[in-house]
Amino acid sequence: MSRRTLNLDDTLYDYVINHSVREHPAQAALREVTRTHSHAMMQISPEQGQFMTLLIKLIGARRTIDVGVFTGYSALTVALALPDNGKVLACDISDDYTRIGKPYWEQAGVAEKIDLKLAPAAETLSARIAAGEAGQYDFAFIDADKTGYDTYYERCLTLLRPGGLIAIDNTLWSGKVALPADDADTKALQALNDKLHADERVDLALLPIGDGLTLARKR
Ligand code: CA
Repeated sequence: MSRRTLNLDDTLYDYVINHSVREHPAQAALREVTRTHSHAMMQISPEQGQFMTLLIKLIGARRTIDVGVFTGYSALTVALALPDNGKVLACDISDDYTRIGKPYWEQAGVAEKIDLKLAPAAETLSARIAAGEAGQYDFAFIDADKTGYDTYYERCLTLLRPGGLIAIDNTLWSGKVALPADDADTKALQALNDKLHADERVDLALLPIGDGLTLARKR
């Protein structure tokens, strides 16, 4: 009986990928295109994407939020997991990154499900709250500028229904969260992790998948 999570060496990681990951061809193609990008590490891994797919189906999500689109793999993954009438409110400030993903959204036949808003995510989310959409979303994925995470978390929590789920990426930050830090990104993640630990508004799990994935279920 193991008391802690296995360290995945390359052989075991390849086994996980080769024996469990089921990617749509558009996902595989977009991941390959993004792999050569200078910020390729900003993309989630395929096994993490597949885990999010399962979560979305488990909770029966229809309306979702993607904060930090980058080249669009997570938005594509979420859109593929949604029913035909599902929607992704996709928030990013970069046309340069997001336009890389659009042809793959089209290829997968889910472009209509993805509502891309090129504006600061905090503004987009606040506008939805002001429009009376609080409590109407089922799922949110937060994977953007780390110093903005707390704001995105609060806005998404407002927009989620009870029982809705927020997934927050990079919460282990290559292990830096466990060490003394003096950079703003690490400090922001440390503060958010501590806040979530004590946050009675949500049920919580911090998973050692990818770079750390925190799941917070709205009570
Ligand atoms: Ca990330």
